[in-house]
Amino acid sequence: MSEPRNVVIIGSGPAGLTSAIYTARANLVPLVIEGEPSSTTDQPGGQLMLTTDVENYPGFADGVLGPELMASFRSQAARFGAELVTSKVTAVDFSTQPFRLWAGEPVTDEPTHLARSVIVATGARSLMLNLPAEQRLIGRGLSTCATCDGFFHQGSHIAVVGGGDSALEEALFLTRFADTVTVIHRRDELRASKIMQERAFKNEKIEFRWNTQVVDLLGETSLEGAVVRDVATGETSELPVTGLFVAIGHRPNTDLFRGILDMDDAGYLRTRPGGTATNIEGVFAAGDVQDHTYRQAVTAAGSGCMAAIDAERWLEAQGDAPPDLSLTPTEW
Ligand code: NAP
Repeated sequence: MSEPRNVVIIGSGPAGLTSAIYTARANLVPLVIEGEPSSTTDQPGGQLMLTTDVENYPGFADGVLGPELMASFRSQAARFGAELVTSKVTAVDFSTQPFRLWAGEPVTDEPTHLARSVIVATGARSLMLNLPAEQRLIGRGLSTCATCDGFFHQGSHIAVVGGGDSALEEALFLTRFADTVTVIHRRDELRASKIMQERAFKNEKIEFRWNTQVVDLLGETSLEGAVVRDVATGETSELPVTGLFVAIGHRPNTDLFRGILDMDDAGYLRTRPGGTATNIEGVFAAGDVQDHTYRQAVTAAGSGCMAAIDAERWLEAQGDAPPDLSLTPTEW
């Protein structure tokens, strides 16, 4: 095991890599534990790795491919001395300084990394339908973000899966671009708030397919339709749509921190208002792991910058002496 690092960053999406750029440029030589590919929908680089064109990231007037954008983030961080390792953190101990982190399996007594400060940027994942075709078509007509991809569906027929506020919000937003938006819901009653329901029912471009589940997706290189099944009759039919937005909820990647870091009922990490500090001194959180409201690459990057500055200032305030953890938890 090596010497404690000044900063270990867990996660390599826009939040983690922006933290890496800033802490590297502050000469803190950060270590980024970037994750490990486990499936097409779970790999280092975060959710932008699942996107094709990104047209709303400032600074790219002609747009940029999601994976290319993340490769740029990565090389920018490496250029200033950030070290990146492709592994997954499997356990943490934030009860003593330096903090202890284990990567890979199996977890042994000896931690893999020691850290004076940690930035948690493990992101969130959109819940998916778990259809094999999702892996092939994600970012190719199949999307989990209307704000990101709605623009590509001008004048087309598209659908949204889900019956909660997210689904209706996405559907309403998508009517700015598409000719029709079909909301596919597995029951005959929406979970969404009444006001959102009223708005959606009033919108002439929105249609509802009740008691319906998506069971397959059509198209090899881009989405051409969805196979849907009526849950009451079992009958299947094809819905010819070129866009399908899955809006059945999100889950923050925080299982690792349960019982250690404060989180809300949905599992998002709580940070001190106006900053990125968690309930443990020296541990900061950035990006979607602590934000269920905005969830944009640019807001994640912004909070990654905040976490880097917070960590840098916190380390500076500690001087050479290890912090006294008995003074925590922090009240705010
Ligand atoms: P949600 O409220 O949990 O709704 C998820 C929806 O997806 C439900 O209708 C559920 O169906 C459906 N669903 C879940 N798994 C499914 C599956 N495997 N196949 C098909 N359908 C599936 O999630 P959300 O809409 O993302 O909202 C999360 C929270 O954020 C809520 O508290 C919501 O009010 C809030 N929110 C608020 C706003 C707003 O106020 N503007 C916007 C977005 C979100 P069932 O109904 O059958 O369970």
